[in-house]
Amino acid sequence: MTASPKRPFLGVHYTTCATYGRLYKNDEGNAYEGRCPRCGHFFRVRIAPGGASTRSCQASCPPSYHNRYLR
Ligand SMILES: [Zn+2]
Repeated sequence: MTASPKRPFLGVHYTTCATYGRLYKNDEGNAYEGRCPRCGHFFRVRIAPGGASTRSCQASCPPSYHNRYLR
């Protein structure tokens, strides 16, 4: 088993933090996972059975994380 350097990913627009990032497919292949590059909030997007049709999505970070980033 060799780990592929090119993981499938999902483009994410973090609306609360006004930035973009990526969620990478997890090892089980049933969800995209990642963190907001600004506030570090963890997101998981489930992949529907039969394959995901979306390649991008929007995410809203909780205010508490946002405030922590702003200090
Ligand atoms: Zn964020």
